Amino acid sequence: MIVADRKPLVEIQEMVANSRKILVIGCKGCVTVCNVGGLKEAEILASSLRIGRNKNGKPMEIDETVLERQCDPEYIAQLKDKVGNYDAVISMACGVGPQFLSEAYPEQKFFPAVNTKFFGGAVQHGIWEERCAGCGTCVIHHYDGLCPIARCSKSLQHGPCGGSSKGKCEIANDVVCIWDLIVRKKMEQGRLDDLRLFQPAKDWRTARDGGPRRSIREELAS
Ligand code: SF4
Ligand code: SF4
Repeated sequence: MIVADRKPLVEIQEMVANSRKILVIGCKGCVTVCNVGGLKEAEILASSLRIGRNKNGKPMEIDETVLERQCDPEYIAQLKDKVGNYDAVISMACGVGPQFLSEAYPEQKFFPAVNTKFFGGAVQHGIWEERCAGCGTCVIHHYDGLCPIARCSKSLQHGPCGGSSKGKCEIANDVVCIWDLIVRKKMEQGRLDDLRLFQPAKDWRTARDGGPRRSIREELAS
């Protein structure tokens, strides 16, 4: 899933400092799963903004709602009769949400309430970690299902750098060196020689380096 963090309240307050009627929109997708932008979090943000304004003697009207997904025009369309009633709209979805909203309702101002971070999952309650960088050409079968593109700090594809120590990456001692895991797994399975196989240079055009990307399913698009 896409993992995001809530922006600091002060930053959001500054964004909407001049607005008097605000709508906060949550999303039931990834941001609900990572506890940052679902209905509950939309209610908490709306309440925090309301309290802050009341304290400053500048009360405002603020409502909250949630969409099934903010990355789907079908659900964005549900706001058609509502979105124009506000000075500003705050999206609690990943970075896709406010953009779909802005494109659907060009006359309205939309503000992001979260910082979108990575594709990953929960490694324990309350802690999410990156697992995929969306490179567009998955190669993890060469590395026993572990991704050096996303998880090696240098995205090395041909073995570890010289900085790996005691299983940790040289950037910080709480970051696992993924190459340590890959090599250990190959050794345990008696397949270390796999790593001698020539890997051609990665084609980065399928990654973000090739510009904004599209995925077209002819059978669905026609
Ligand atoms: S190789 Fe690319 S697509 Fe596969 S997990 Fe790594 S970053 Fe994601
Ligand atoms: S220490 Fe390991 S994870 Fe860190 S940059 Fe070097 S090979 Fe990559």
